[in-house]
Amino acid sequence: MPPLDSPSVRVDAATTESLPLQINNENTVANPANLDYDLAIVGGGIIGNTLAVALQNSGLRVVSIESQAQSESIAKSRAYVLSMLSGQIFEGLGIWNQVLPQVTQFSQIQISDADYAGVVKMYPQDLGTDTLGYAASHEVLLTALQTKLVAAENITVMCPAQVVDVDYTDAGADITVYTPDCGAPTKIRASLVIAADGAKSSLRDRAGIATTGFNYWQSCITATIKPEKPHNNVAYERFWYAGPIGVLPLADGRCQVVWTVPHQQAEELRDLPVSEFLKALEHCTGGLLGKLELDSQRWLFPVKLMQSNQYIAPRLALIGDAAHCCHPVAGQGMNLGIRDAVALAEVLIAAHHAGEDIGSKSVLNRYAKWRKPENWVILAFTDFLDRMFSNQILPIVIIRRIGLFLLDRVPVFKYLALRLMTGLAGKIPQVARS
Ligand SMILES: Cc1cc2nc3c(=O)[nH]c(=O)nc-3n(C[C@H](O)[C@H](O)[C@H](O)COP(=O)(O)OP(=O)(O)OC[C@H]3O[C@@H](n4cnc5c(N)ncnc54)[C@H](O)[C@@H]3O)c2cc1C
Repeated sequence: MPPLDSPSVRVDAATTESLPLQINNENTVANPANLDYDLAIVGGGIIGNTLAVALQNSGLRVVSIESQAQSESIAKSRAYVLSMLSGQIFEGLGIWNQVLPQVTQFSQIQISDADYAGVVKMYPQDLGTDTLGYAASHEVLLTALQTKLVAAENITVMCPAQVVDVDYTDAGADITVYTPDCGAPTKIRASLVIAADGAKSSLRDRAGIATTGFNYWQSCITATIKPEKPHNNVAYERFWYAGPIGVLPLADGRCQVVWTVPHQQAEELRDLPVSEFLKALEHCTGGLLGKLELDSQRWLFPVKLMQSNQYIAPRLALIGDAAHCCHPVAGQGMNLGIRDAVALAEVLIAAHHAGEDIGSKSVLNRYAKWRKPENWVILAFTDFLDRMFSNQILPIVIIRRIGLFLLDRVPVFKYLALRLMTGLAGKIPQVARS
């Protein structure tokens, strides 16, 4: 148990000036009853925080625990494709007004196959919408979510604080949390634990949940570039035999590149002199954006497909990368996690209002049955795209070029592909319908 004279909940002092996280004043170890929560969210990344925001004003007492100081977690220099459905979800959660002015709205998506001349161009009117999706930076999304949490009275934020152990009981879980300046760890109790602790989820492993999947033969290089020509809000996905290259238009005129190639080639690209790297990039983007300038470090990520065999265990639910990971082609991973988070919130709030035990198997099953099959579809879709395009086997090359031709010419194919990519093909969470 925690020492009764030490603070159990701490806010990173370095970040409170810019973003004063609110800690419920009652929530001190002098009053241990207040360390009992309905729900503990472990991991305050974009997905964990989306769940926390979705639970604001729900009547559930929530604690969100994040091991990185705010300044550190916000500082990831990365941008994501944000699907239309994720935009609708953020609108429903009340953060879209803050996010929208800082994102790029896609005016067009262009898909092409290596040096094949045919380019599939997709426009908002193909879907009957105003845009086809967005490019948003990690910092913009996480800041908006964290700012929203400041006003949420039912949510306590522990940051930086790391969950080091969880003991599950029939009624809930005893969670041991280590806060850097606190000396002895703090114990808190919750009816339900949410693992939002990323792809290497220690909560998933500790609960003995196995995963299905594999590492790809590819890694992914990401970098930010300044193009000579304006990007005109066009998102590009160009498939090469080594792997796809995605170029995302950013709000400040720059672009983010996500370039997938076999591991060794990825390491070589990362280590090439800048001028040679840019030459290779200009070739692979087909000169679309003219001369390129490198505007960031080059980051390397191994790529894997992973699905947890169970999304739930007694008193535990997995969301986001803790539950699944997919190939970055088509920019789907975080969008799946956002849907997990609001689907789980919807299930839990309904159960709470109906007087059910939110950590019971019957309640958690509703979440798993909703999200796991939908996530399988996207995992399979991204795997299919990567395998179909990352090879030079002649019959497959012919089939995919016919496929691209049909995609370009048959409106219903374009419409269905866009419904899938924008997230609008699955069950729409209530928060996005408003
Ligand atoms: C190169 C690349 C490009 C990508 N592009 C896109 C894209 O365009 N669109 C898209 O939708 N997705 C994209 N993704 C996927 C996306 O980045 C992930 O799906 C998403 O970031 C997962 O978020 P998360 O919150 O589940 O996990 P994370 O971001 O990993 O967050 C987990 C959090 O949990 C914390 N934590 C871990 N353990 C503990 C503990 N014990 N106690 C307390 N806190 C803990 C960590 O500090 C971390 O903040 C991309 C991925 C890669 C690698």
